[in-house]
Amino acid sequence: MTAGTNDDTGFAELGLRDELLKALTTLGYEEPTPIQREAIPPMLAGRDLLGQAATGTGKTAAFSLPLLQTIPAPGGDNPSALILVPTRELAVQVSEAIHRYGKDLGTRVLPIYGGQPIGRQLRALEHGVDVVVATPGRALDHISRGTLHLHDLRVVVLDEADEMLDMGFAEDIEAILQETPEDRQTVLFSATMPPRIDGLARSHLNDPVRIQIGRAPTAAGEAPLVRQVAYVVPRAHKPAALGRVLDVEAPGAALVFCRTRDEVDQLTETLNGRGYRAEALHGGMGQEQRDRVMARLRNGTADLLVATDVAARGLDVEHLTHVVNYDVPSAPESYVHRIGRVGRAGREGVAITLAEPREHRMLKTIERITKQRILIEKVPTVADLRARRLELTRAALHESLVADDAALSQFRVVVETLSDEFDLMEIAIAAVKLAHDAAAIGDGDEEEIPEITLRAPREGDRPGYGSGPGAGSGDRPGRRVSVRDADGRGRGRDAGGRRVPAGGMTRLFVGAGRAAGIRPQDLVGAITGESSLSGRDIGAIEITDRFSLVEVPEGAVDEVIDTLRRTTLKGRRPVVRRERFNQ
Ligand code: AMP
Repeated sequence: MTAGTNDDTGFAELGLRDELLKALTTLGYEEPTPIQREAIPPMLAGRDLLGQAATGTGKTAAFSLPLLQTIPAPGGDNPSALILVPTRELAVQVSEAIHRYGKDLGTRVLPIYGGQPIGRQLRALEHGVDVVVATPGRALDHISRGTLHLHDLRVVVLDEADEMLDMGFAEDIEAILQETPEDRQTVLFSATMPPRIDGLARSHLNDPVRIQIGRAPTAAGEAPLVRQVAYVVPRAHKPAALGRVLDVEAPGAALVFCRTRDEVDQLTETLNGRGYRAEALHGGMGQEQRDRVMARLRNGTADLLVATDVAARGLDVEHLTHVVNYDVPSAPESYVHRIGRVGRAGREGVAITLAEPREHRMLKTIERITKQRILIEKVPTVADLRARRLELTRAALHESLVADDAALSQFRVVVETLSDEFDLMEIAIAAVKLAHDAAAIGDGDEEEIPEITLRAPREGDRPGYGSGPGAGSGDRPGRRVSVRDADGRGRGRDAGGRRVPAGGMTRLFVGAGRAAGIRPQDLVGAITGESSLSGRDIGAIEITDRFSLVEVPEGAVDEVIDTLRRTTLKGRRPVVRRERFNQ
């Protein structure tokens, strides 16, 4: 493989032009993801496309790359492409991605969303942009002001269409599409395909190519029987979270998968800084370098190998104890393939996945396809780390005591002399402290990692179009933030400090809390495992020592109570009822 080019990694084969290939090389993408492989050629050929794919599959590049190649050269007065997305967060993310991919083409891209001063958007639109990435409400606002002209559009993308419909944007989308040319190319991506999405596709897409990612049936049992856990962590906290997880797991030899070369290099550096012996392996490295790295892992001078999928291909490492997905893999097949590297020949293996809150759904897809549970666990706390380090000190002392080490006798005189003055227990405690401090890497510099119980916030971008359900509200049912502050306080409380349920939501009282070992994921698991709700339907969760409070949609209250009453939580059947206000 030639280092540093995409000529032989598959992107060029898809028909992408040099400027885009160069950008992908710079970003460290080594090969197309399945959705990219399937979506790019038909989009380049001008076909409409209906794609079922969740966040984490690489869908943004799947539609952005062909779009950048097919729209007219930059410089026109009006936009050539419009991408509609449900949230402000996604608008920014997608426009940043397009900016990076289209850098050498000189493509001008602008995110427009509610909440940002409209003046800045007006000025940018006046100067001319090629691609607009917008939330529907704000797009319609600009159309009615006459500041966004859609008659030169070549491509329209509806991204996360199911989310947009859930948020009540159906009428806005219809109104926007009315303003676009008939002969435009239309692309629709959605994580789910409910009938409403089918209806939207039937009325606005012309003989679309259909793509589904995550539907290829994997024979049950094909995925190895390894302990599969995931941690939901915001991107910024991932390096620290992985460090903690590895400290607690203490892998013998682990393979850590990253998406890009840059990520491989950065993470290797971070892990080395944490005291691990980590080695990077990616497609940009020569064979000799790769051989050297592999030898270090085999002979135990390295304990972690950080690699991209491409680099790890064909790599045969015996005795791997852990596989880590630093990102959720872009397809379930890739997950199965990666974790197939542990748990071989009857050995125990652990597969760890770090997911961003938005990628929660991709984990569900993988579970569905592999027919295996992935347990969502809490990132170890600083207290967990301390306990683990104490345990290591205890184990080291135990080993020393059972080793019948003759050299120990030279210390007897120290203990005997001190025992004239101090109690034996006190002497032992002081000695353990010294041993512990000498061995432990400092506990003090650990950053706070917020605990995520559900998905990250969504922006309600509705600047006053009072049409669809939930209009004007930025706080829709099932969209609540439930990131807890470090001290456990949540947001959205009334004057008495009581949390106010989101509109359309009801709070349930569950008579078991922290003291019984209940964690948010236990409640989510118990509810979603047996009822018709999915994790995203559940609102804020509050756990106190004695009890827990869970917000669920009003219409599903009876079902959820019934479900929870039939389920055991940490081995018990706690009281479950609607919350009363004298709790
Ligand atoms: P998306 O599903 O579009 O949200 O993309 C998920 C992540 O995958 C983003 O961080 C992208 O930068 C990254 N990504 C997309 N395509 C590739 C690829 N072919 N190789 C490596 N990373 C990719």
